[in-house]
Amino acid sequence: MTPFAIIVLGLILLRYFFELWLDSLNSDYVRRHADEVPEAFREIMDEATYRKSVRYTLAKARFGTLSDTYSTVLLCALLFTGWLATIFEQVAAWTGESAWGFAIALWIVILLMSTLSLPFSWWSQFRLEARFGFNNSTQHTWWADQAKGVALSFALGVPLLSLLLWLVNASGSHWWLWAWGTVVVFQLLMSVLAPIFILPLFNKFSPLPDGALRDRLDDLAKRTGFVNAGIQLMDGSKRSKHSNAFFTGLGKGRKIALFDTLVEQLDEAELEAVLAHEIGHYKLRHVPKRIAWSFVTTLIGFWVLSILAGQSWFAKSFGFEPVIAGVFLLFGLLAGAVTFWLSPLSNFCSRKFEYEADAFASEAIGSGGPLITALRKLNRENLSNLTPHPWYSGFHYGHPALLEREAALQYNHLSG
Ligand SMILES: [Zn+2]
Repeated sequence: MTPFAIIVLGLILLRYFFELWLDSLNSDYVRRHADEVPEAFREIMDEATYRKSVRYTLAKARFGTLSDTYSTVLLCALLFTGWLATIFEQVAAWTGESAWGFAIALWIVILLMSTLSLPFSWWSQFRLEARFGFNNSTQHTWWADQAKGVALSFALGVPLLSLLLWLVNASGSHWWLWAWGTVVVFQLLMSVLAPIFILPLFNKFSPLPDGALRDRLDDLAKRTGFVNAGIQLMDGSKRSKHSNAFFTGLGKGRKIALFDTLVEQLDEAELEAVLAHEIGHYKLRHVPKRIAWSFVTTLIGFWVLSILAGQSWFAKSFGFEPVIAGVFLLFGLLAGAVTFWLSPLSNFCSRKFEYEADAFASEAIGSGGPLITALRKLNRENLSNLTPHPWYSGFHYGHPALLEREAALQYNHLSG
C-alpha cells in the first residue's frame, strides 16, 4: 500500500469507528431514559408509544451498525485489493474508451456496488419498518421502484457523465469550471423538470380537493403573499405510514406536496401551521441559500477533483490506470470520508432555518399552538427518538429536537 492509500484507509476507519461510537453513545442515552417517559414528554406520549419509540430507535441503530460495517468492509475490500480497479478496467475494455464508453463503465460499476447493498434496503423496508407497522409497500412496488431508479440513473447519469468526461479533454486545464457550470445547469434543470417528469413515476399527485381545508390553506397562501402553482396531495401511504410535506419546482411553478398520511394525522389548524412553516422556508429565502450552498460545495469538489486528477499517485494508489473516469469513481467513493466531518456545520445551518420557519409560522398564524400540537403528533406517529444524544443529533439531525422547537415557539409567542 502507498502512504496515500494508508491515509485513506485511516480516514475511512476513523469515520467508521466514530459513527459506531456515536451510535453507542446515542443508544446508551436512549436506554437510560427507556424505563419511564421523561417528565417533559408525559403530555406528549403515553407509556406504550414511548416504549415503542425506544425499541424503534434501538432497532434502527443496530441495523445501521450492521449495514455500516458491511459497506465499510466492502469498500475497503474493493479499494485496497485492487479488485475495484480490475473490475472497472474489465468493464471499460468492453464498453470502449470513448467518453460514452467510460460513462457506461462507471454506471455499470456503481450499479454493481449498489446491487451489493440491495439486501439491506430490502430488509430495512420489509423487516425493520414492517415490524413497527410503518411499511405499506408491496414487493411489487418496491422492485418496480428499484427498476425505475436504475433506468433513470442510466437515462440521466450516463449522458451527464459522458459530457463531463468529454469536457475534461476538450476544455483544457480549466475543465473543472466547465464541469461545474454543466452540473449547475443540470441541477437547475432537474429542479424544474423532476416534479413534472420524475416524481410522477413514483407517486400520484392530485390537487387538494375543494373544501374547508383547501379554502383555509389557499387563504393562508394569499395572506402571506405566497404565489404557487397549487397545493398537491401525494399518495405517500403507498409505501409508508411516515408523513411529510415538501415543495417542488422553482419560482412561480412551485408546488407544495402534502403526504396523504400527513393530512390524515393532523387537523386543519395543524396542517395550516405546517404549510405556514413551509411558506416560511420560501419567504425567508432558504431555498436559494441552500441551492447557492450546494453550488459552492460542488465548485470546491470539482476543484479538488481537478487537482487529484493531475496527480498520478492518486489513481495508482488503488491500482487504477490514471484515466479521468477512474479518478471520478475514486473521488465519488472517498469524498464522504472527508465531508462527513462537515455535517455538523450543515446541520447547524439547517436547524437555524427550521427555527426561522417555525417563527414565521407562529407569526403568520398568530400563535405557536397549532404548530406545537402538529409537531407533537408527528413525533408520536413517526416514533421519533425524543431523547437523542446531543453529539448524535449534531451529526445526524437537520431538525432541532421536539423540545427545543417547542421552547423556541413558546418564547416567540411570549415575546411576540
Ligand atoms: Zn422545515
